[in-house]
Amino acid sequence: MELQETLEEGYVEILDHLRKRSLWMLHYCTACGAIELPPTITSRFDAERFGIAPFVTSRQSDILLVTGYINIKTLKRLITVYEQMLPPKYVIGFGSCTINGGIYWDSYAVLKRLDLYLPVDVYIAGCMPSPMAVLEGFRTLMKLIDEGKANGWKKYIENYDYYKANQRKVLKW
Ligand code: SF4
Repeated sequence: MELQETLEEGYVEILDHLRKRSLWMLHYCTACGAIELPPTITSRFDAERFGIAPFVTSRQSDILLVTGYINIKTLKRLITVYEQMLPPKYVIGFGSCTINGGIYWDSYAVLKRLDLYLPVDVYIAGCMPSPMAVLEGFRTLMKLIDEGKANGWKKYIENYDYYKANQRKVLKW
């Protein structure tokens, strides 16, 4: 039993090590911060050299990149998309609006903290974050995956009632 557990742990470690260099990113652009993505993923900053490539379907993507402020209608779609993705999956909050509402901090329509509704693995601060900051955010996520610490998707399952209660509060589901 002990040997089996050790082998399984080793297998997961190898998978995580490989997975961090092959991440497909779903970038349904929720807000203005998305304007920094084209330079990040094209030749100038070239995110693909780290194995990070944009992708178009939720079921085959690893990263949900939330590119800015989230209003109540957007949240409903984000939850659907996140729940369609297969684990392991990772959420990046991109821009100050995802952290605390940013310049929309007092808007009735904008949510103030993405991590109340979805498990955020990495936040990238800035309004809007530069391509260099975005790459740093990607590299932080890669490091967390390699260390087995990018476990937001497990947290979502373990604390499903907590997330659903927060989601219901704003969505009135
Ligand atoms: S952080 Fe700035 S750039 Fe990003 S969504 Fe908010 S206002 Fe727009």
